[in-house]
Amino acid sequence: MFIKALTLIVLIMIVITLIKRGKKAGNSISTTVNAPSENNMKRCAECGTHLPEQEALTYQTLSFCCNDHKKLYLKDKKT
Ligand SMILES: [Zn+2]
Repeated sequence: MFIKALTLIVLIMIVITLIKRGKKAGNSISTTVNAPSENNMKRCAECGTHLPEQEALTYQTLSFCCNDHKKLYLKDKKT
């Protein structure tokens, strides 16, 4: 009985993961077919490094490559 329940839970998790992936894939297919995600590149406001949007730290409209640069930039702005 326990194994059955466990199998069911695992199956549900797999289904949820597949649904999530499907949604993401659907979005990327409709917008960017084979093009690399250059449009999603962000530029660090402190050092100018380009990095993928999902890796960038955002603060309001600004993007940063790491938390240190975010802090540095905000510190510079204040003083
Ligand atoms: Zn940086």
